[in-house]
Amino acid sequence: MSCSFSDLGLNESILRALETCGYKEPTPIQEQAIPLILQGRDIIGAAQTGTGKTAAFALPTLQRLAAHNPDHPRALVLVPTRELAIQVEENFKRYGEFAALNIVLLYGGVGYHQQLHGLKHGADVVVATPGRLLDLHERRHVNLSQIEVLILDEVDRMLDMGFIEDVSRIINLCPKERQTLLFSATVEKSILNIAKWALREPQIIDARSGATAAETVAHYVYPVESYQKYDLLLAILNKINFKSVLVFTRTKRDADRITEWVESTKNSVATLHADRSQNERAEALAGFKSGKYQVLVATDIAARGLDVRGITHVINYNVPEHAEDYVHRIGRTGRASEEGEAFTLFSPDELLYLQAIERLLGKSIERRKLEGFKYRFEPMMGANTTGASAGPVIRRRNR
Ligand code: AMP
Repeated sequence: MSCSFSDLGLNESILRALETCGYKEPTPIQEQAIPLILQGRDIIGAAQTGTGKTAAFALPTLQRLAAHNPDHPRALVLVPTRELAIQVEENFKRYGEFAALNIVLLYGGVGYHQQLHGLKHGADVVVATPGRLLDLHERRHVNLSQIEVLILDEVDRMLDMGFIEDVSRIINLCPKERQTLLFSATVEKSILNIAKWALREPQIIDARSGATAAETVAHYVYPVESYQKYDLLLAILNKINFKSVLVFTRTKRDADRITEWVESTKNSVATLHADRSQNERAEALAGFKSGKYQVLVATDIAARGLDVRGITHVINYNVPEHAEDYVHRIGRTGRASEEGEAFTLFSPDELLYLQAIERLLGKSIERRKLEGFKYRFEPMMGANTTGASAGPVIRRRNR
């Protein structure tokens, strides 16, 4: 039975903003989390991007803060990457359009001026990555003693990135008397260990839907010898009718090379990886979102958390080394029930990676051959690499 946003106890200004966004009804995680958060409960949300988790925590938080207060920030959202920080801030601004609250964004790799300016004018909500937040805290530019709602987003990712100490320090800088909301795509022991000391009687909400590769995404594997991958990539780009396509590579070098190749075709292309300056990264992403670039070539930093509307296709130039990354990558398309397609170019040397993905999904991924493409060798079509039958899925990052 579906319910409406107003059934969840959200107020007029938020409902108006949701109307502007065109959201008709809450997603499952929103339906479950919003009433609990409005009641002041702590929660652990097992959810990845694409489920509507940002609104699930942003809407009730905005409502709880109610009116602007210039003293000190009262809500803090901690996220692993700059890209996610930008996205979460954009969401808070959209949902808080009629709420008159100040949202301030803090992340590293850029100057301090604008961020200090934002803080001086009184932030109600701070959205931050751990390093820059601690940096500004040490310089006494930000005071966390009045935080009422602490949101830890993509905690699994923060742990993967080695931020555990920073995150723990930040939690300890917030008052003990607070509401804490923890979101993570996986809820394993390390996450529960944090929850044990940082949350109070949390309610666990599981919004992962089975094998998470969104049902709306049709995904296929294209077997090909590695030296023909480039030709196959261009042939696929030529063949498909895409509006915007995200190409993932394993290495920064590959990302740069592929960008050059695609540039030589008629497509407009940008690159996103860690060796690019923050300005270049922001420009690439903004250009991709606005439609200036039809193709974005990215390493894994772009794989998680990015929310770009209307991505019609994702192409994995390499089979992702970590099975969970596959799910995150193909999750970039087909967001919030839009149709999407994902293709993975698979060469025989990547068999182990593909097997791991199929084990995680609990099924094999359909093999496809591109009609009209001159394969040098007959691609390995039939092989079911896994023997994977549906069964318990063990999610493990082996880093
Ligand atoms: P998230 O999981 O927070 O990254 O959200 C994924 C996408 O779903 C974003 O583009 C949101 O704008 C969109 N979205 C979130 N909630 C809803 C909703 N209730 N109805 C339609 N779209 C939504």
